[in-house]
Amino acid sequence: MNLTFRDLSMVNDQENSTRLDFTAAVSGAGVMGSGIAGQCAASNVQVILNDISPQACERGLHQIKSRLDRQLASNRISQLAFDRQLACINLSTDGSGFDEVHIAIEAIVENPQIKQQVLRELEGKLNDRAILASNTSTISIEYLASALKRPENFCGLHFFNPVSQMKLVEVVRGTHSSDACIDLCVEFAKRLGKVPVVVRDCPGFLVNRLLFPYFHGFDLLVKAGVSYQRIDRVMTDFGWPMGPAYLADVIGMDVMVSADTVLCQGYPERMSYQEPSVFERLYEKRCLGQKTGKGFYTHLNSQHTRGAIEPNPEVIEQLYDTSGLTSTQADISDLNILERMMLPMCTEALLCLKEGVVSTASDIDLAVNLGLGFPTVHTGLMHYLDALTQRGLWNVLEPYQHLGPLYHLTD
Ligand code: NAD
Repeated sequence: MNLTFRDLSMVNDQENSTRLDFTAAVSGAGVMGSGIAGQCAASNVQVILNDISPQACERGLHQIKSRLDRQLASNRISQLAFDRQLACINLSTDGSGFDEVHIAIEAIVENPQIKQQVLRELEGKLNDRAILASNTSTISIEYLASALKRPENFCGLHFFNPVSQMKLVEVVRGTHSSDACIDLCVEFAKRLGKVPVVVRDCPGFLVNRLLFPYFHGFDLLVKAGVSYQRIDRVMTDFGWPMGPAYLADVIGMDVMVSADTVLCQGYPERMSYQEPSVFERLYEKRCLGQKTGKGFYTHLNSQHTRGAIEPNPEVIEQLYDTSGLTSTQADISDLNILERMMLPMCTEALLCLKEGVVSTASDIDLAVNLGLGFPTVHTGLMHYLDALTQRGLWNVLEPYQHLGPLYHLTD
């Protein structure tokens, strides 16, 4: 039997409104695990932060504390709030206390076999009514659930990086996830101040499933000789916070390639490449992006900074036949670039709706706005699509049919 709302007591918070009194555990104290634990503490949720390595636990706590130090120094939180938040976090390397939590979130390395094994161990430590969730970004929930005795108590809970800033959480419903499990995860995400969107388990879930067709559009444009700086400029002019080349640098070419592989395997008829993608080519050159200081651009500082950047000459030389570049570019207008980038995302969004990955078009808008930073000046992806449809979607797609299935409408 699942945990139900009745199992969670209601408490009065400082603003005197009632809230569900969750307790949580997070396994894996890396970038995401410490971010999720920090968000629990910021929301006054008691949390156990667990890692196989004591040093990783300490590093995770240090990361949370550094953030709180900065907030305290700039008067964004009081000393009382600082102390209260730190008191919410308990470190563990042996899983002690897991039998008392309402929800455990697995955030260890993205390896299917290791995740299955760790989830099985976690399940054994939990109360049999507790919810177990995985923060995986790419691994099938169905596959992970197959290792469990109580798959009905399991689902995906996909937070985005950095957890403190990204509002969206994808609650991923596996075939066996019960309604009670999904409802509890939705409430838990809200309790952490996040906006949950329930999506059906499928390769890429919703957000990455829509993002990677957009990257395919980018790959095709670069292979057609259009400079990636120009593509970035067109897309930021449209309103995206950063262009696709810059975004790939922020994500990291290693993560790009491994996520892209999952999408290509999941949707081979639409998303496979004729020849290695531009991301693979950079990956092979160890141009991983911000984390190595060079990707499509050279970065002065790694991590989360928008430090001064220059196009990476090594990449330009490798990706383009410089002599053919200008003539090809002249043939493609800025509007063509925009449409070639956006249409694959739009056709995939229509498929997601048709397949019931989400139940409403507004869920897609919410997820793309909050998860990818889709420019709110265009309201949302489905609104943008509506505007295109005024011109007749087929008329917009027609000139791009030769580019492949991502530019086709499926019946
Ligand atoms: P990370 O490498 O920073 O941290 C992983 C942590 O897991 C490490 O501290 C490691 O010691 C620990 N670990 C490994 N095996 C363990 C075990 N058996 N028990 C307990 N801890 C163990 O990884 P990350 O970037 O935080 O990613 C974690 C998960 O979140 C992955 O599934 C990833 O796909 C997903 N995710 C990552 C991002 C991102 O941008 N980094 C975004 C969304 C989701």
